[in-house]
Formats: sequence, C-alpha cells, structure tokens
Amino acid sequence: MSISVDLAGRTALVTGASSGLGARFGRVLAANGARVALGARRAERLEALAGEIGPAAAAVAMDVAREADIIAGFDAAEAAFGTTIDTVIANAGVDGAGMITAMSEAEIAQTLAVNLTGAILTAREGARRMMAAGVTQGRIVLIASITAFEPSPGLVAYSASKAGVVQAARSMAREWARSGICVNTISPGYIRTAINADWFETEAGKRQIARFPRKRLMSEEGLDGVLLFLCSDAAEFVTGSDFVLDDGQTL
Ligand code: NAP
Repeated sequence: MSISVDLAGRTALVTGASSGLGARFGRVLAANGARVALGARRAERLEALAGEIGPAAAAVAMDVAREADIIAGFDAAEAAFGTTIDTVIANAGVDGAGMITAMSEAEIAQTLAVNLTGAILTAREGARRMMAAGVTQGRIVLIASITAFEPSPGLVAYSASKAGVVQAARSMAREWARSGICVNTISPGYIRTAINADWFETEAGKRQIARFPRKRLMSEEGLDGVLLFLCSDAAEFVTGSDFVLDDGQTL
C-alpha cells in the first residue's frame, strides 16, 4: 500500500542517498511532490538516481564527516533549485561493526564522526539556512536506530552514535522550537541494506531474524508513511519526538 502526502513546494536534502534507505527516501519524497537534493560520496550513484527521478532531483556529492563538504553540499543543492532547503533528512551512516575490544580509536572516531557529528552538522547547516531565509515550516528528520535503546554486541560505537542522534535531535528541537523548525528522529529496526546484508547471510544473522517476533526483517517501505508525515505541513505540532518503526523487533 502506498501512502501519499502533498509535498509540493518543499525542497529537501537527503544525505546517504546513494543507496539503501536514503535512495528510497529520495524517491518517495520526489514522488510526493518535493524537489530533492541527493547527497553522499559516490557521485555516480547519485547521478544515476537523479536521472531516474527526473528534474525534481539533483545529485550533490558530499562527505558528512567534513563540515566544508556539508556547507558546499547545501550551496550546491540551493543553487540547483534556486531556493532554500526547507526539509533535511540526515540519514548518512556507517555500521562501525566489530567487537569493541578489537576496534581502534580511529574506527570509533570515524563512526561517531559520520553518524553523530555528521548528522548534527547536517541539521545545523539546514537550520541556519532556514532561519536566515525566514522559513516558517522547516522540517528536519534524523535517522537513528533501535540500537539507540537496545544493547547490541558488536555495535558499541554505532549504538552510542545513534543514542546521541536521538538526544541531540531533542535538544535541537528545543533550541529551534520558536523558529518553526520541527526536529524529529526515526529509529528503524533492522532492514536489509548494504550496511548489514552480509551479516544477515551468516548463521548468527539468521538466528537473530528468527528471534524477532515476526521472524523477519523490517521493510524499507515501512518507513514511508512516518517520513512523509514528518516532512509535511501536518507535522507542525510534532517536534522532539522519536518514532520507533521496527515491525516489533524490540518487543
Ligand atoms: P547503506 O545502504 O549502507 O547506506 C548508507 C548511506 O550513507 C550510503 O548512501 C552512503 O553513501 C552514505 N554515507 C556513508 N558514509 C558517508 C559519509 N561520510 N558522507 C556522506 N554519506 C555517507 O545503509 P542504510 O541501511 O540505507 O543506512 C541508512 C541509515 O539508516 C544509516 O544512518 C543507518 O545507520 C540507518 N539505519 C539502518 C538500519 C538498517 O537495518 N538498514 C536500521 C536502523 C538505522 P556513500 O558511501 O556514497 O557516501
């Protein structure tokens, strides 16, 4: 079943749009009337997706671990559409998987740099521009994870980064409450994408799926409705909230 909302007039930037959930978000936002800038490092994948979506999409190469790249990405997105980005989806992320006793400081730092600092900087850049342009219905959605709340062996740095995203979003929502910018998080359950496809092919991965109440992975489409709602004018009174969408995996 597909859900539709009217996002005509909105201009979005989605990070991590070169694969998985971010590519889905780009397609879904554009299908509901938004202009969408697609951000990530792999420019050729972004170009291919933008070509598939059509004139409503633009590819914007950016590395969210670099502040200057984020600023340049917003510049490029606004130049492509000739208007301020009023809808930001901070989705870029890496798994940073591995038992913490075997992880180096650099690996931990990189996971936090992309997943946490990168998400905060992306939201901050979006909010700065919305405030400067007088946007009154700004929307920022950050993609967290159920690991923000569930202890997850092998995902110490990742889960810490996602818990940080949830609480940072609540604090940003508070800081920006009077500017009309709504800041919310979605905490998805496990969905098969490039970030975890290898793990779910292992015997341990299959056992993990078997332990979920519905004995399956979550679907990408399962995020569409809440994402679209949070980007719409109807979400005006929703800010500082986290939406756990996990097919009951944490029950
Ligand atoms: P994915 O297919 O691996 O996508 C990750 C995306 O992040 C890619 O587009 C990648 O693009 C981008 N990215 C990684 N590092 C980046 C950087 N430094 N700068 C800019 N972009 C970067 O995985 P996914 O499952 O769609 O993940 C999307 C988000 O959902 C992540 O934040 C992830 O933590 C979260 N999430 C996923 C699940 C799940 O089960 N799949 C569950 C909960 C939350 P480039 O490599 O081209 O830069």
